[in-house]
Amino acid sequence: MPRLKALCTLVIVLVISLSPNTYAEQYALISDGVIDGISNDLLKNKAVIVTDSKVTSIVDLTKIPNDAIRIDLPGTTLMPGMINAHEHPLLYKDDYQSGHLQSSSAYKALLGLSNLQRLLKAGWTTIRVMGDGDVYYANQDIRRTIDEGVFIGPRLTGAAHYISITGGGGDINYFSPEQQVIADGLIADGPDEIRKAIRKEIKYGSDWIKIMVTGAFMSVGDDPRNVAFSPEELSAAIEEASRQNIPVAAHAHATAGINQAVIAGVRSIEHGSYLDEESIALMVEHQTYYVPTIYVGDYYANSGKLLAQSKNDDFYLSFRDDWLQMIGKAHRAGVKIAVGSDLCGSAVESHACAREFATLIEAGLSPMDAIKAGTSVGAELLQWDDQIGSIEVDKLADIIAVPGNPLVDISALEKPVFVMKNGQIIVNTLESYSAISN
Ligand SMILES: [Zn+2]
Repeated sequence: MPRLKALCTLVIVLVISLSPNTYAEQYALISDGVIDGISNDLLKNKAVIVTDSKVTSIVDLTKIPNDAIRIDLPGTTLMPGMINAHEHPLLYKDDYQSGHLQSSSAYKALLGLSNLQRLLKAGWTTIRVMGDGDVYYANQDIRRTIDEGVFIGPRLTGAAHYISITGGGGDINYFSPEQQVIADGLIADGPDEIRKAIRKEIKYGSDWIKIMVTGAFMSVGDDPRNVAFSPEELSAAIEEASRQNIPVAAHAHATAGINQAVIAGVRSIEHGSYLDEESIALMVEHQTYYVPTIYVGDYYANSGKLLAQSKNDDFYLSFRDDWLQMIGKAHRAGVKIAVGSDLCGSAVESHACAREFATLIEAGLSPMDAIKAGTSVGAELLQWDDQIGSIEVDKLADIIAVPGNPLVDISALEKPVFVMKNGQIIVNTLESYSAISN
């Protein structure tokens, strides 16, 4: 009899173990309000029910399932995990080009992983890498280890490198001709080299292509008011990437560069500092997304930390207000604006990335539209809006809780108290819990 009893117990245990839903973790997230990323209203008296990796229902507080684990987050607002559509996780020095020259790809990968974990804890559940200062493919290796479950980290997409002309924003332009270095960007000149560069990017895991269509503000020896690539080079880039279903993001400051890139068919314009009325009309016509990355220039203005300090300062002191007005105009005209911080490598405190929301509000977006820019609109840009970017049934549970009401005080986004990615609790500061030790 004891044997039979043992056998019965074993069968019962096996049946319970194999039943798919028996051990499904179900949480009820309870806060003062919910911003779902889609609606214009702050939802009240609702609990978000998460089962395994997904949101399974949003219910009245009186209808919380009895077996759900309650997570009480009083004094907070729930919202979708933030999406940073423009970041360079491997950069570890304010003057990133000198940093690039001083360290190996492996060193950058280790620092970058640590940085990405900090960003996740700061509420950034998804990050689009817009190329990085790296000879190899450290971001792609980091993404692989996150996908394999070796490390916890944010959802990653993006380009390994930014593709630049010789002497452009992705080149090192302050060494003598005798010095041979591998630049932070991927240097390509002419349609053939650009095609080859794009094929190589895709071969090693880039799911975006990033091209430096004009000069840059933060690099040395090039001019953001000049267009780098010719129309033929631009067309070749779009044609090559499109054949492999890979979208292209264009770094572009000069008006002509913005407009040529939009006409050529890029999916997003990054920065767009000198956009004009025609640029706005073209972006509306071509449904091009716009990632202005405003705050990074504020952060570095008059900082003395950059080799190219004066270029950045000249623009921010003389032109910032005009630019912000144009961003507001673009928004009102229907251009889809997404949040990108372009700031949070290891040298900068992770929470500072969220200051981009305040600058978008300064440009004329409502607080709710700014939050959508960093959630549902970002997800659309990434073409992941069927999975992330909003708190809706069947979406992946990438959810954060921020103190108070961010529609009243947007700086709340700088200090989330609770972060969940894919249904996994990453941090809950109200219970002093963190899944990541650093
Ligand atoms: Zn950037």
